[in-house]
Amino acid sequence: MSDPTFTVIAPIYNEIENLPLLYERVKNVMDQTDEGWELILVDDGSADGSTDVIRELAAKDERVRPVIFARNFGHQIAVTAGMDYSRGQAVTIIDADLQDPPEVILDLIEKWREGYQIVYAVRSEREGESWFKLTTASLFYKLIYRITDVKIPLNTGDFRLIDRTALNIINDMRECNRFLRGMGAWVGFKQIGVEYKRHARHAGQTHYPLKKMLQLALNAITGFSTYPLKLLTMIGSFLVGLSLVLLVIYLLLAIFHRVDLTYVLATWLTLIFLSGSLFIGMGILGEYIGRTYDEAKGRPLYIVAEGPDKSLDPTRLDQKK
Ligand code: UDP
Ligand code: MG
Repeated sequence: MSDPTFTVIAPIYNEIENLPLLYERVKNVMDQTDEGWELILVDDGSADGSTDVIRELAAKDERVRPVIFARNFGHQIAVTAGMDYSRGQAVTIIDADLQDPPEVILDLIEKWREGYQIVYAVRSEREGESWFKLTTASLFYKLIYRITDVKIPLNTGDFRLIDRTALNIINDMRECNRFLRGMGAWVGFKQIGVEYKRHARHAGQTHYPLKKMLQLALNAITGFSTYPLKLLTMIGSFLVGLSLVLLVIYLLLAIFHRVDLTYVLATWLTLIFLSGSLFIGMGILGEYIGRTYDEAKGRPLYIVAEGPDKSLDPTRLDQKK
């Protein structure tokens, strides 16, 4: 079988009730493209029988390709595995719970055909989600947008289409703490959003409890920003500055108003000054650790969209597969 044009990836963690409908809807949508497609179902250590359903679907339709994990590795890793196994020229990532309607894939493909390499789906509306989830998600996106170095579009999730060119680069980025949305924004290329309405889950409940959300937020921040380290230096500088200003006021009072220099005040000043210096020291250490971390991530230094001579292009975008 020659390589399909399209790949759809769905990470699966205990989605037994959603799988049959997911398959049906993806099949209906993808058959409308008149091109070859594959559906990669990554079983992320399900324990509810989803694995067997995936096997059955694969036995029935050879376009369904199962990737079954030995245990639960988490959503971002499951999607990564799907991307590694994908063979399509345009790869779409979709949640298995049908919160992202598969029909939207056609809109994503349309933009891809216009020449966009990353087409992300923007949630214009979200239904069936708690007030708490909506507020924390919105805060999360705003925070990430502000403090990270890459501008991750607001209100987007992992529901997106990625062209093979960009995908090969993302697949080469083997950092363990993955925040795929950030990596997608980081690689650049021509990107565009398509609006859609995010539905309530078809069945089951979220597998993203607060703990996992916080972990994802932490991956996003630490993976794409050294702001927290800079914060240390900023706090330190503020404290040292404060102690110096206080010292001046203190000396002026002592000289002109003959106010007694009490031990308590002197102790406070020293304390603020010393803790400030310590913060600065930690910030400096942090800068080096941050740089080591950047080196360890081993991301490409640059990504060429159009080289002078494709065969000599150092990133060899066209030869890689
Ligand atoms: N998922 C996964 N591994 C996990 C948690 C979730 O593969 O450890 C999958 C899940 O089956 C679904 C997608 O990731 O297809 C999104 O998860 P979920 O719907 O629970 O998150 P939410 O939409 O509530 O943010
Ligand atoms: Mg969901």
